[in-house]
Amino acid sequence: MDNRLFLFNTLNREKQRFEPLHPPFVGLYVCGPTVYGAPHLGHARPAITFDILYRYLTHLDYKVRYVRNITDVGHLENDSDDGEDKIVKKARLEQLEPMEVVQYYLNCYHKAMDALNVLPPSIEPHASGHIIEQIRLISAILENGYAYESNGSVYFDVVKYHNKYHYGILSGRNIDELYNTTRELDGQQEKRNSVDFALWKKATAGHIMHWPAPWSEGYPGWHLECTAMSKKYLGEVFDIHGGGIDLIFPHHECEIAQSVAATGEAGVRYWIHNNMVTINGQKMGKSLGNFITLEEFFSGKHAMLTQAYSPMTIRFFILQAHYRSTLDFSNDALLSSEKGLARLTETYGALLKLQPTSATSSIDVETLKKKCYEAMDDDLNTPIVISQLFEASRIVNSAATGQISVSEDELAGLKQLFDLFLFDLLGIRNEATNSDLSYEPFIKAMDILLNIRLQAKQNKDWKTVDEIRDQLNALGFEIKDTKEGSVWKLKK
Ligand code: ZN
Repeated sequence: MDNRLFLFNTLNREKQRFEPLHPPFVGLYVCGPTVYGAPHLGHARPAITFDILYRYLTHLDYKVRYVRNITDVGHLENDSDDGEDKIVKKARLEQLEPMEVVQYYLNCYHKAMDALNVLPPSIEPHASGHIIEQIRLISAILENGYAYESNGSVYFDVVKYHNKYHYGILSGRNIDELYNTTRELDGQQEKRNSVDFALWKKATAGHIMHWPAPWSEGYPGWHLECTAMSKKYLGEVFDIHGGGIDLIFPHHECEIAQSVAATGEAGVRYWIHNNMVTINGQKMGKSLGNFITLEEFFSGKHAMLTQAYSPMTIRFFILQAHYRSTLDFSNDALLSSEKGLARLTETYGALLKLQPTSATSSIDVETLKKKCYEAMDDDLNTPIVISQLFEASRIVNSAATGQISVSEDELAGLKQLFDLFLFDLLGIRNEATNSDLSYEPFIKAMDILLNIRLQAKQNKDWKTVDEIRDQLNALGFEIKDTKEGSVWKLKK
């Protein structure tokens, strides 16, 4: 572990060498989904971005405690302090228990994340399971004088806080501008200033999710859960907090204010944010008709899609852009990702079958590997890693067609390069051949079987020749006889 990784820290607006507070341990907190609807592209990008960070930190021998929360209470419509709780609304419309809504969409989310080969976090805490911690946090902020009670609700006093600290430190927003842009809302008369935000809301009659607290029967404000749960599981100060760029304000700005007001500590050392996803240049939104769920991508069942896209095509496409760039989805872009990924996985299949043709080495596999590492170290530059894998792919194809000769060491080095960067770190599952089928002993066993068939052919034992082909066909394999011998693949 030599602290080789540089990350762009939103807080300082620059790339910084990542140095954990208590090496080898790393605390990583990422804002997870509000589970009230089917997972979509907007969920896939942060999940995959922080999956790459998690995989790479683990590869660098850090011991990572990765916490990704589940928001199941307090996230109101329009991310505001007014309006209905998103989960309560869904429960009312569908006549379900709120926890039924949460469980259903959480199951959908997990299924989609599995399909995208996103590793599960170490802890997945629910906001509703941490009400006590949130009440304690509110009490601490009240005690320190940075919050006030109003009609059973508790609000964070942004103006008083800003007199001593800096509200806007993360987002760069100016508090005077915020005054002008804050909308006048129903609950306004309860607040001292329009920029204040809710820590606790008194439940109105008929509100179905509420808990007892010293101030009223009610529920916590949305920003509170992440401060309470990150501190509980990672400590008062921890290494990395991540999320989508849209969470910088107000969510993460409020998290910093809550943490400072409660403990005097900002809490987070590196803030990392992934950029947004657009569809044909437009922001994704239900009202724009371009809202495509992951399930619809996987099945192709959406008016805007010309075909189905596999989960690995989606993953590969997301990784072809740097996580801090915007990413625009279109059928053309996805088709080219599908082709690119197929080229890499076919190369890998060809690589496993290649035999050494030279005793000496001339290909610089080490430099390719070094460049891949340098790209990962440079703020997780996955598009550069992918371009190096395409470079490796060209070398393998030249060897496969006999244009260049390769040694045993070179073959092993190339295989290691794909295994490490494409499969382990970029997290691509080999779905072109199905991951079990790319398993090396399996490929060799297929070679043995096809060689027996070839010998049978040479002995004019047509019964055995046909029998092997027919039985493999029945299992879903397609066998093609070429001049160079028989090749096989899985039927689609
Ligand atoms: Zn959060």
